[in-house]
Amino acid sequence: MPSTPSTATQSDLSSGRDTTRHDVIVVGARCAGAATALLLARAGLRVLVLERASHGSDTGSTLALMRAGVLQLSRWGVLDAIIAAGTPPVTTTVFRYGDDAVTVPIRPTTAVPALFAPRRTLLDGVLADAASAAGAQVRFGVTVTAVVHDPTGRVVGVSAHDERGRLFDARAPIVVGADGRTSLVARQVGAPDTARYPHAASYMYGLWSDLEVEGYEWCYRPGAAAGLIPTNDGQVAVFAATTPRRFRRDIRPDLHAGYRRLLDEVAPDLADRFAVGHPPERLRSFPGFGGHLRQAWGPGWALAGDAGYFKDPITAHGMSDALRDAELLAEAVVGRLSGDLDDSDARTAYEGERDRLSRGLLATTDTIASFHWDVPELQVLLRRLSDDMRPEVDALSARAPGVPQHPAA
Ligand SMILES: Cc1cc2nc3c(=O)[nH]c(=O)nc-3n(C[C@H](O)[C@H](O)[C@H](O)COP(=O)(O)OP(=O)(O)OC[C@H]3O[C@@H](n4cnc5c(N)ncnc54)[C@H](O)[C@@H]3O)c2cc1C
Repeated sequence: MPSTPSTATQSDLSSGRDTTRHDVIVVGARCAGAATALLLARAGLRVLVLERASHGSDTGSTLALMRAGVLQLSRWGVLDAIIAAGTPPVTTTVFRYGDDAVTVPIRPTTAVPALFAPRRTLLDGVLADAASAAGAQVRFGVTVTAVVHDPTGRVVGVSAHDERGRLFDARAPIVVGADGRTSLVARQVGAPDTARYPHAASYMYGLWSDLEVEGYEWCYRPGAAAGLIPTNDGQVAVFAATTPRRFRRDIRPDLHAGYRRLLDEVAPDLADRFAVGHPPERLRSFPGFGGHLRQAWGPGWALAGDAGYFKDPITAHGMSDALRDAELLAEAVVGRLSGDLDDSDARTAYEGERDRLSRGLLATTDTIASFHWDVPELQVLLRRLSDDMRPEVDALSARAPGVPQHPAA
């Protein structure tokens, strides 16, 4: 438990200065930010989390957690809340390559009884609630507008405003940017890309009702892909993906028609099911962006989740990796604040392990997102992807849950 509860009061904030002492400020409260805050608070640190969206709000995603992500939720004791909310267990993955289908059962373990694809309204809310319960101060409706540096260039806090436009500054020795792919924190600290991955796919996706689904179902044909992912309330997230060029030219002018055309093309075997199901009223799209690894640690700052590491969603692994990195980062933060690590050690420990576990996944994801494959080549890529995932599951399974206590806690 934290040594001192963090309780910035409204009057503190309205004076323009949050006078409460924080050890860490986390910007963003979804998979990366809420999970990092949860672990830091459990380690005994005083954590302030600032999130511009509201609690339990939705965000664009096709929701599929892979084994590493479910493992993290289980190790931290929050998987039960996801299961209790009625999230359906996924016990099978079906790969549809052209006209062939291969069904692969999910191997159940004590920690990972099945895979799960919770709505983000549920997952991000459960993580934020767990962070609050551990003692973090989680504030929604707060937009961080700038990172504050001291005269040496070290990050010492943030400037922000709440929903009513009231400005305030908050100070902490470490600011974590868990603020997504377009991270303000990454931009303001000038975090350089350390690797870039050029390929990207474009997506259309939405939630179906009354759609029969066997588990995670991934469908591939040259130039297109689709996925069916069962989530809460009997709904199924269904995405269709293609090249950005084709998306711009053929799909975007009429998104709903283009989505149905792509689904019929890539998953003709599922036409009967799509005819019975109720398609989404709201269809989202994502034009696609290349992947990156960014420098993830510097003087007074660190990056978690998509802010420091983004890859195309075609392999549905961003949330799982964000949950993985939350723990790697929290451990480095505790080491830095306890004086066991300097900034260089902390960067090596966190960024080094993140990159070791990410490079294979990133490279394989990039090749799949390029659509430069035929079906036999894709099958090789998917086997490689399965090999890429193993080291992170092994590395997480070998760790004690959570991170060590801060010595002052
Ligand atoms: C189309 C699509 C489909 C996807 N499907 C999957 C999938 O099936 N499985 C999977 O694992 N991953 C998937 N992903 C990837 C996944 O959504 C991301 O990897 C994941 O959301 C990253 O979590 P995060 O916490 O790092 O960032 P985000 O989820 O982007 O959260 C960042 C948060 O920071 C907040 N924020 C930003 N700026 C500020 C600021 N200045 N002040 C305060 N708050 C701020 C935002 O409001 C946001 O809530 C998909 C992505 C896309 C685009």
